[in-house]
Amino acid sequence: MRVAVVHQFGKPLVIEDRPTPTPGPGQVVVRLEASGLCHTDIHAANGDWPVKPTPPFVPGHEGVGIFESVGPGLQLVVGARVAVPWLHTACGSCEYCVSGWETLCLAQKNTGYGVDGCYGDHVLADGHYVVEVPEGVDPFDAAPLTCAGVTTYKAVKVSGMRPTNILAVFGVGGLGHMAIQYAHIAGAEVVAVDVDDAKLEMARKLGASHVVNAAKEDPIAFIQHLGGAHQAIVTAASPEPCRQAYESLRRNGTLVLVGLPAANHLDLPIFQTVLNGITVKGSIVGTRQDLREVFDLHARGLTCVTREIRPLDTVNASIADVLSGTVEGRIVFDPTLVSAR
Ligand SMILES: [Zn+2]
Ligand SMILES: [Zn+2]
Repeated sequence: MRVAVVHQFGKPLVIEDRPTPTPGPGQVVVRLEASGLCHTDIHAANGDWPVKPTPPFVPGHEGVGIFESVGPGLQLVVGARVAVPWLHTACGSCEYCVSGWETLCLAQKNTGYGVDGCYGDHVLADGHYVVEVPEGVDPFDAAPLTCAGVTTYKAVKVSGMRPTNILAVFGVGGLGHMAIQYAHIAGAEVVAVDVDDAKLEMARKLGASHVVNAAKEDPIAFIQHLGGAHQAIVTAASPEPCRQAYESLRRNGTLVLVGLPAANHLDLPIFQTVLNGITVKGSIVGTRQDLREVFDLHARGLTCVTREIRPLDTVNASIADVLSGTVEGRIVFDPTLVSAR
Protein backbone atom coordinates (compact mmCIF):
# COMPACT_ATOMS: atom_id res chain seq x y z
CA MET A 1 0.00 0.00 0.00
CA ARG A 2 1.00 3.61 -0.45
CA VAL A 3 0.79 6.03 2.48
CA ALA A 4 1.86 9.57 3.44
CA VAL A 5 4.02 9.49 6.57
CA VAL A 6 5.06 12.05 9.18
CA HIS A 7 8.66 11.25 10.16
CA GLN A 8 9.41 14.44 12.04
CA PHE A 9 7.12 17.17 13.43
CA GLY A 10 6.98 20.23 11.22
CA LYS A 11 8.68 18.52 8.26
CA PRO A 12 7.01 17.60 4.94
CA LEU A 13 5.20 14.27 4.79
CA VAL A 14 6.86 11.49 2.77
CA ILE A 15 4.94 9.21 0.39
CA GLU A 16 6.03 5.59 0.97
CA ASP A 17 5.16 2.06 -0.03
CA ARG A 18 4.45 -0.39 2.79
CA PRO A 19 3.14 -3.95 2.91
CA THR A 20 -0.68 -3.99 3.14
CA PRO A 21 -1.55 -5.24 6.64
CA THR A 22 -3.44 -8.44 7.40
CA PRO A 23 -6.40 -7.88 9.75
CA GLY A 24 -6.13 -9.51 13.17
CA PRO A 25 -9.12 -10.55 15.33
CA GLY A 26 -11.81 -7.83 15.21
CA GLN A 27 -9.91 -5.84 12.60
CA VAL A 28 -10.63 -4.95 8.98
CA VAL A 29 -8.57 -3.63 6.09
CA VAL A 30 -10.32 -0.90 4.13
CA ARG A 31 -9.29 0.00 0.58
CA LEU A 32 -9.68 3.77 0.69
CA GLU A 33 -11.55 5.69 -1.98
CA ALA A 34 -11.47 9.09 -0.29
CA SER A 35 -9.66 10.68 2.64
CA GLY A 36 -10.33 14.17 3.97
CA LEU A 37 -7.74 16.66 5.20
CA CYS A 38 -8.77 17.89 8.65
CA HIS A 39 -6.97 20.72 10.48
CA THR A 40 -6.25 18.16 13.22
CA ASP A 41 -3.97 16.31 10.80
CA ILE A 42 -1.87 19.46 10.45
CA HIS A 43 -1.66 19.87 14.22
CA ALA A 44 -0.69 16.18 14.43
CA ALA A 45 2.02 16.60 11.79
CA ASN A 46 3.39 19.64 13.63
CA GLY A 47 3.14 18.13 17.13
CA ASP A 48 1.15 21.21 18.18
CA TRP A 49 -0.90 19.83 21.04
CA PRO A 50 -0.14 18.84 24.65
CA VAL A 51 -0.69 15.14 23.81
CA LYS A 52 1.42 14.30 20.76
CA PRO A 53 1.48 11.36 18.35
CA THR A 54 4.72 9.39 17.99
CA PRO A 55 6.43 9.59 14.58
CA PRO A 56 6.60 7.87 12.21
CA PHE A 57 2.82 7.85 11.76
CA VAL A 58 0.20 8.18 9.02
CA PRO A 59 -2.33 11.00 9.67
CA GLY A 60 -5.93 11.13 8.49
CA HIS A 61 -9.26 10.28 10.15
CA GLU A 62 -11.80 10.98 7.43
CA GLY A 63 -11.34 7.75 5.48
CA VAL A 64 -14.02 6.19 3.32
CA GLY A 65 -13.60 2.98 1.39
CA ILE A 66 -14.47 -0.64 0.85
CA PHE A 67 -13.85 -3.63 3.16
CA GLU A 68 -11.11 -5.58 1.47
CA SER A 69 -10.44 -8.14 4.17
CA VAL A 70 -12.02 -8.94 7.50
CA GLY A 71 -10.28 -10.53 10.49
CA PRO A 72 -11.54 -13.46 12.56
CA GLY A 73 -14.57 -12.91 14.82
CA LEU A 74 -16.41 -10.38 12.67
CA GLN A 75 -19.71 -10.82 10.83
CA LEU A 76 -18.95 -8.17 8.21
CA VAL A 77 -19.43 -8.28 4.47
CA VAL A 78 -16.36 -7.78 2.28
CA GLY A 79 -17.25 -5.16 -0.33
CA ALA A 80 -19.36 -2.91 1.93
CA ARG A 81 -18.56 0.82 2.06
CA VAL A 82 -17.55 2.19 5.45
CA ALA A 83 -16.18 5.32 7.08
CA VAL A 84 -13.07 5.21 9.29
CA PRO A 85 -13.42 7.99 11.87
CA TRP A 86 -11.23 9.61 14.56
CA LEU A 87 -12.45 7.10 17.18
CA HIS A 88 -10.38 4.10 16.07
CA THR A 89 -11.47 2.11 19.09
CA ALA A 90 -12.73 2.44 22.68
CA CYS A 91 -13.02 0.02 25.61
CA GLY A 92 -16.78 -0.55 25.22
CA SER A 93 -17.38 -1.02 28.95
CA CYS A 94 -16.40 2.10 30.94
CA GLU A 95 -18.98 4.61 32.22
CA TYR A 96 -18.51 6.77 29.10
CA CYS A 97 -18.77 3.92 26.62
CA VAL A 98 -21.95 2.51 28.16
CA SER A 99 -23.66 5.90 28.52
CA GLY A 100 -23.35 7.06 24.91
CA TRP A 101 -20.12 9.02 25.43
CA GLU A 102 -17.64 6.60 23.84
CA THR A 103 -15.79 9.66 22.48
CA LEU A 104 -14.71 10.40 26.08
CA CYS A 105 -13.42 6.87 26.80
CA LEU A 106 -10.04 7.08 28.54
CA ALA A 107 -8.86 3.92 26.79
CA GLN A 108 -9.73 5.15 23.27
CA LYS A 109 -7.26 5.13 20.40
CA ASN A 110 -7.47 7.68 17.62
CA THR A 111 -7.09 7.15 13.90
CA GLY A 112 -4.20 9.08 12.38
CA TYR A 113 -2.87 10.02 15.82
CA GLY A 114 -2.38 7.02 18.11
CA VAL A 115 -2.68 4.50 15.27
CA ASP A 116 -1.90 4.91 11.56
CA GLY A 117 -4.64 6.71 9.68
CA CYS A 118 -6.18 7.28 6.29
CA TYR A 119 -3.59 9.21 4.25
CA GLY A 120 -3.06 6.26 1.95
CA ASP A 121 -4.80 3.73 -0.24
CA HIS A 122 -5.42 1.24 2.60
CA VAL A 123 -5.99 1.45 6.33
CA LEU A 124 -6.27 -1.06 9.16
CA ALA A 125 -9.34 -0.35 11.29
CA ASP A 126 -11.35 -1.80 14.18
CA GLY A 127 -14.37 -3.53 12.65
CA HIS A 128 -16.61 -2.46 15.54
CA TYR A 129 -15.84 1.24 15.16
CA VAL A 130 -16.19 1.77 11.42
CA VAL A 131 -19.57 3.12 10.31
CA GLU A 132 -21.44 1.94 7.26
CA VAL A 133 -21.93 4.57 4.53
CA PRO A 134 -25.47 4.31 3.15
CA GLU A 135 -26.25 3.71 -0.50
CA GLY A 136 -26.34 6.93 -2.52
CA VAL A 137 -23.82 8.88 -0.42
CA ASP A 138 -20.81 9.87 -2.52
CA PRO A 139 -17.54 8.71 -0.86
CA PHE A 140 -16.04 12.17 -1.47
CA ASP A 141 -18.93 13.67 0.52
CA ALA A 142 -18.82 10.90 3.13
CA ALA A 143 -15.15 11.61 3.94
CA PRO A 144 -15.63 15.19 5.25
CA LEU A 145 -18.84 14.11 6.98
CA THR A 146 -16.78 11.56 8.93
CA CYS A 147 -15.07 14.30 10.98
CA ALA A 148 -16.17 17.81 9.94
CA GLY A 149 -19.79 16.72 9.62
CA VAL A 150 -20.14 14.63 12.76
CA THR A 151 -18.11 17.06 14.88
CA THR A 152 -20.31 20.04 14.08
CA TYR A 153 -23.51 17.99 14.17
CA LYS A 154 -22.58 16.98 17.72
CA ALA A 155 -21.64 20.57 18.60
CA VAL A 156 -25.11 21.77 17.53
CA LYS A 157 -26.67 18.94 19.59
CA VAL A 158 -24.73 19.75 22.78
CA SER A 159 -25.25 23.50 22.34
CA GLY A 160 -28.87 22.99 23.41
CA MET A 161 -30.05 24.97 20.37
CA ARG A 162 -33.80 25.14 19.85
CA PRO A 163 -35.74 26.34 16.81
CA THR A 164 -35.76 30.18 16.50
CA ASN A 165 -32.56 30.55 18.59
CA ILE A 166 -29.79 32.75 17.20
CA LEU A 167 -26.72 30.54 16.73
CA ALA A 168 -23.40 32.07 15.68
CA VAL A 169 -20.74 30.03 13.88
CA PHE A 170 -17.21 31.45 14.07
CA GLY A 171 -15.07 30.14 11.20
CA VAL A 172 -16.61 29.01 7.90
CA GLY A 173 -14.09 26.34 6.87
CA GLY A 174 -14.40 22.58 6.56
CA LEU A 175 -16.14 22.42 9.96
CA GLY A 176 -18.00 25.71 9.96
CA HIS A 177 -19.74 25.20 6.63
CA MET A 178 -21.32 22.04 8.05
CA ALA A 179 -22.21 23.64 11.42
CA ILE A 180 -24.21 26.30 9.58
CA GLN A 181 -26.26 23.64 7.80
CA TYR A 182 -27.02 21.55 10.89
CA ALA A 183 -28.12 24.63 12.86
CA HIS A 184 -30.19 25.83 9.91
CA ILE A 185 -31.88 22.42 9.48
CA ALA A 186 -32.70 22.44 13.20
CA GLY A 187 -34.44 25.81 12.88
CA ALA A 188 -31.86 28.33 14.14
CA GLU A 189 -31.31 31.84 12.83
CA VAL A 190 -27.64 31.41 11.89
CA VAL A 191 -24.97 34.10 11.97
CA ALA A 192 -21.74 33.14 10.14
CA VAL A 193 -18.49 34.92 11.03
CA ASP A 194 -15.27 34.69 9.02
CA VAL A 195 -12.63 36.98 7.52
CA ASP A 196 -13.09 35.81 3.91
CA ASP A 197 -15.92 37.16 1.75
CA ALA A 198 -16.01 34.11 -0.56
CA LYS A 199 -16.52 31.81 2.45
CA LEU A 200 -19.24 34.10 3.77
CA GLU A 201 -21.02 33.98 0.44
CA MET A 202 -20.94 30.18 0.67
CA ALA A 203 -22.28 30.45 4.24
CA ARG A 204 -25.27 32.42 3.01
CA LYS A 205 -26.04 29.78 0.37
CA LEU A 206 -25.86 27.06 3.04
CA GLY A 207 -28.47 28.72 5.23
CA ALA A 208 -26.84 31.55 7.22
CA SER A 209 -29.31 34.42 7.71
CA HIS A 210 -26.52 36.87 8.56
CA VAL A 211 -22.84 36.99 7.63
CA VAL A 212 -20.13 39.11 9.25
CA ASN A 213 -16.63 39.72 7.92
CA ALA A 214 -14.68 40.09 11.17
CA ALA A 215 -11.79 41.75 9.32
CA LYS A 216 -14.09 44.63 8.34
CA GLU A 217 -16.77 44.72 11.03
CA ASP A 218 -16.94 43.95 14.76
CA PRO A 219 -18.83 40.64 15.06
CA ILE A 220 -19.58 41.26 18.75
CA ALA A 221 -21.42 44.54 18.03
CA PHE A 222 -23.21 42.97 15.07
CA ILE A 223 -24.49 39.96 17.02
CA GLN A 224 -25.33 41.95 20.15
CA HIS A 225 -27.37 44.26 17.92
CA LEU A 226 -29.47 41.19 17.05
CA GLY A 227 -29.96 40.61 20.79
CA GLY A 228 -26.94 38.37 21.29
CA ALA A 229 -26.45 34.72 20.32
CA HIS A 230 -28.14 31.96 22.31
CA GLN A 231 -25.29 29.71 21.25
CA ALA A 232 -21.92 30.32 19.62
CA ILE A 233 -19.88 27.50 18.08
CA VAL A 234 -16.20 28.20 17.42
CA THR A 235 -14.61 26.11 14.71
CA ALA A 236 -11.76 28.54 13.97
CA ALA A 237 -8.28 27.34 14.95
CA SER A 238 -7.14 30.62 16.54
CA PRO A 239 -7.91 32.09 19.99
CA GLU A 240 -9.34 35.51 18.98
CA PRO A 241 -12.64 34.13 17.57
CA CYS A 242 -13.17 32.25 20.87
CA ARG A 243 -13.11 35.55 22.75
CA GLN A 244 -15.37 37.22 20.17
CA ALA A 245 -17.82 34.32 20.35
CA TYR A 246 -17.94 34.56 24.14
CA GLU A 247 -18.62 38.31 23.95
CA SER A 248 -21.37 37.75 21.35
CA LEU A 249 -23.53 35.64 23.68
CA ARG A 250 -26.73 36.86 25.27
CA ARG A 251 -27.45 36.09 28.93
CA ASN A 252 -27.86 32.35 29.61
CA GLY A 253 -25.96 31.71 26.36
CA THR A 254 -23.70 28.75 25.60
CA LEU A 255 -20.23 28.85 24.08
CA VAL A 256 -19.23 25.59 22.37
CA LEU A 257 -15.52 25.20 21.67
CA VAL A 258 -14.70 22.86 18.78
CA GLY A 259 -11.62 24.22 16.96
CA LEU A 260 -8.30 23.55 18.68
CA PRO A 261 -5.86 26.46 18.35
CA ALA A 262 -2.17 25.73 18.90
CA ALA A 263 -2.32 28.61 21.44
CA ASN A 264 -4.24 26.68 24.06
CA HIS A 265 -5.79 29.23 26.45
CA LEU A 266 -8.89 31.38 26.56
CA ASP A 267 -9.04 34.18 29.14
CA LEU A 268 -12.46 33.78 30.72
CA PRO A 269 -13.87 36.69 32.79
CA ILE A 270 -15.37 35.04 35.89
CA PHE A 271 -17.59 38.00 36.87
CA GLN A 272 -19.40 38.20 33.52
CA THR A 273 -19.64 34.41 33.24
CA VAL A 274 -21.36 34.21 36.63
CA LEU A 275 -23.62 37.24 36.30
CA ASN A 276 -24.68 36.40 32.73
CA GLY A 277 -25.20 32.71 33.46
CA ILE A 278 -22.89 31.65 30.65
CA THR A 279 -22.12 28.01 29.87
CA VAL A 280 -18.82 27.04 28.24
CA LYS A 281 -18.66 23.56 26.71
CA GLY A 282 -16.07 21.59 24.83
CA SER A 283 -17.29 19.21 22.13
CA ILE A 284 -15.12 16.50 20.61
CA VAL A 285 -16.16 14.63 17.41
CA GLY A 286 -19.28 12.41 17.76
CA THR A 287 -20.25 8.80 18.37
CA ARG A 288 -20.92 6.10 15.79
CA GLN A 289 -24.63 6.82 16.19
CA ASP A 290 -24.05 10.56 15.58
CA LEU A 291 -22.21 9.65 12.38
CA ARG A 292 -25.08 7.40 11.26
CA GLU A 293 -27.43 10.36 11.73
CA VAL A 294 -25.09 12.63 9.76
CA PHE A 295 -25.05 10.14 6.88
CA ASP A 296 -28.83 9.82 7.08
CA LEU A 297 -29.31 13.60 6.75
CA HIS A 298 -26.99 13.63 3.76
CA ALA A 299 -28.63 10.63 2.08
CA ARG A 300 -31.93 12.50 2.38
CA GLY A 301 -30.43 15.45 0.50
CA LEU A 302 -30.53 17.85 3.46
CA THR A 303 -26.81 18.70 3.57
CA CYS A 304 -24.25 19.71 1.01
CA VAL A 305 -20.47 19.19 1.32
CA THR A 306 -18.12 21.74 -0.20
CA ARG A 307 -14.94 19.87 -1.10
CA GLU A 308 -12.15 19.70 -3.61
CA ILE A 309 -10.65 16.38 -4.77
CA ARG A 310 -6.85 16.19 -5.03
CA PRO A 311 -4.24 13.45 -5.46
CA LEU A 312 -2.66 12.24 -2.19
CA ASP A 313 0.79 13.26 -3.42
CA THR A 314 -0.27 16.92 -3.14
CA VAL A 315 -0.46 16.45 0.65
CA ASN A 316 2.25 18.99 1.54
CA ALA A 317 0.98 21.68 -0.86
CA SER A 318 -2.57 20.98 0.32
CA ILE A 319 -1.58 21.51 3.96
CA ALA A 320 0.03 24.83 2.98
CA ASP A 321 -3.19 25.85 1.21
CA VAL A 322 -5.31 25.06 4.27
CA LEU A 323 -2.95 27.08 6.48
CA SER A 324 -3.16 30.05 4.11
CA GLY A 325 -6.95 30.01 4.59
CA THR A 326 -7.68 29.91 0.86
CA VAL A 327 -9.44 26.54 0.67
CA GLU A 328 -13.23 26.58 0.48
CA GLY A 329 -14.68 23.68 2.46
CA ARG A 330 -12.61 20.51 2.60
CA ILE A 331 -9.73 19.02 0.61
CA VAL A 332 -10.38 15.31 0.00
CA PHE A 333 -7.58 13.07 -1.27
CA ASP A 334 -8.25 10.46 -3.91
CA PRO A 335 -5.47 7.90 -3.33
CA THR A 336 -5.89 6.50 -6.84
CA LEU A 337 -4.94 9.82 -8.49
CA VAL A 338 -1.37 10.85 -9.27
CA SER A 339 -0.66 14.52 -9.84
CA ALA A 340 0.74 15.65 -13.20
CA ARG A 341 4.40 16.54 -12.71
ZN1 LIG B 1 -10.96 15.98 12.14
ZN1 LIG C 1 -14.58 3.17 27.42
